[in-house]
Amino acid sequence: MTQLHRPALTGIALCLSLVPAHAARAAPPQGEGVAWDIVADLTTEIGPRLAGSPREAAARDWAVVRLKALGFQNVRVEPFTIAGWVRGAESAELTGPYPQRLHITALGNSAPTPVGGLTAPVVYFASLDALRAAPAGSLAGKIAYIDHAFVASQDGSGYGPFGQARRQGPAIGASKGALAVVIRSIGTDHNRDPHTGGTNFPEGTKAIPAGAVSGPDADLIARIAGRGQAMTIHLVLEGHAVGELPSGNVLAELPGRDPSLAPVLLACHLDSWDLGTGAIDDGAGCGIITAAALNVAKHGQPLRTIRLLWAGSEEVGVFGGAAYAKAHASEPHALAMESDFGADRVWRVSFNLAAANKPLAERIAAALAPLGIPVNAAKAGGGADIGEIAKASGAAVIDLDQDGTRYFDLHHTPDDTLDKVDPAQLAQNVEAWTRVLAIVANETGPISGAAQ
Ligand SMILES: [Zn+2]
Repeated sequence: MTQLHRPALTGIALCLSLVPAHAARAAPPQGEGVAWDIVADLTTEIGPRLAGSPREAAARDWAVVRLKALGFQNVRVEPFTIAGWVRGAESAELTGPYPQRLHITALGNSAPTPVGGLTAPVVYFASLDALRAAPAGSLAGKIAYIDHAFVASQDGSGYGPFGQARRQGPAIGASKGALAVVIRSIGTDHNRDPHTGGTNFPEGTKAIPAGAVSGPDADLIARIAGRGQAMTIHLVLEGHAVGELPSGNVLAELPGRDPSLAPVLLACHLDSWDLGTGAIDDGAGCGIITAAALNVAKHGQPLRTIRLLWAGSEEVGVFGGAAYAKAHASEPHALAMESDFGADRVWRVSFNLAAANKPLAERIAAALAPLGIPVNAAKAGGGADIGEIAKASGAAVIDLDQDGTRYFDLHHTPDDTLDKVDPAQLAQNVEAWTRVLAIVANETGPISGAAQ
C-alpha cells in the first residue's frame, strides 16, 4: 500500500467515508507501452475471437494494421482452414436427488444434445483412470461424470495430466456407451464460472455432448456422490460442428542485417476462447513478444531477422502451429520461443540449446539474473505453436516460464479479461524477453537445439 502524508490521509479518509463502498473499489489497472496497448486494444476492439469465427478474421485484419503501424515488414496472413465448431445454448440442472441449476459450458468439439436436451442418470468417476477402468458398455444410457484433483502450482504442471479428463474423457466415455460426459472444470478457482477448452473425438469414436461444470458445482456433485446417492442431470448443450471454416496465421518481421543467418521465431496465438476476451490467453503473449522485438530494434537493426507468429486456431487443436510448420519446415530456424501462459511474471528460464551453445546460455542467464530469474535445470519444453517447427527445423528453444499460480483460476473462463493483466508484471515479461532477444538476435555463431 502507498504511504501517504498524514494531512492528506485525513482528507482522503473523510472523502472515502462519504462515497458508497462500491465506488471506493480500486481503479482498473492502467498500463502503458506496446505490450499493454496490444492486449488492451485487442480485447477492447475485437474481444472474443473463437477459432474460425468472423471475430477471429477481424482480429487478423486488426493485427495486420497494428503490426504495419508499429513498423514491422513482410506483414502477411497465411490462411488455412479448420474443422469448425460453434457454441450454442447451454444449461444443466441436477434433477435428482436435489433439483438445482448447475453452471456448465460446452467443451469445444462437443456434439449437440437432442432437441429439448437429455436427462439421464449420472455415473460418478473420481478420476479419468476410474472411467478408463469402467467395463465396456457399462455407461449405455448414462451421463459419465469425471472428477479430478487439479491444484494450482507455479509451473502449472498439473495441466498436462489432469487436463486429460477434458481432452480424452469424453471420447473414453463415448467408447463405453455414455450418452454424454460432464467433467469438473480444469481450473483451480472457486468461482461459479465453468472453464471451456477443446476435447477430441478420434476417428472411429462417435462425438457425444461434453461439458464442464464450475468448481462449486463439481463440489456439490462430489458431496452427493460421497453420500452414495443416485443423481440425474438434465443437459442442454447445443454447440456443434459446422464443417470447414477459414482461419490463418499473421506473420511479421524485423529483417536482420545478415539475411544468410537463420531467423529467430517468436510466437503467441491470436485466437481465444469465446467466453472471455482472451487477455491472458493470449493477447498478453502477443503484446509481450511484439514489444520485445521493437525494444531490440530500438538499439539498431538486429543481426538476425526476428519473425513474429501470431498464430490462429491454437485453442481448438494447434492448427496455426501445424500450418506454420507445414509452410516453413524447409527453412532454417535458429531459435523458437513462445509466450502463451498468461501475463504473470517470468520466474525461471529453461533452455533447449546444443552443447556448443553453452556460452550463449550462460550469457542469457547472466542477463536475466539481475531480474531474479534463475535457470531451470530441466530442458525447455517450448509451446504448442512452436512445437512442430522446432522439431522439424532443429531450432533451439528457450522458455521464459511465467508464474502459473493463478493462471488456471482464469484460463478459458469468462473472467479472462483485461483487468486480470497486471501492468507491472507485463512489463517484467517484456524486460526479460528483451534481454534474451537482444542476445540471440545478435548472435553471430550458429544456434541450434540439443540433439533429439
Ligand atoms: Zn493459449
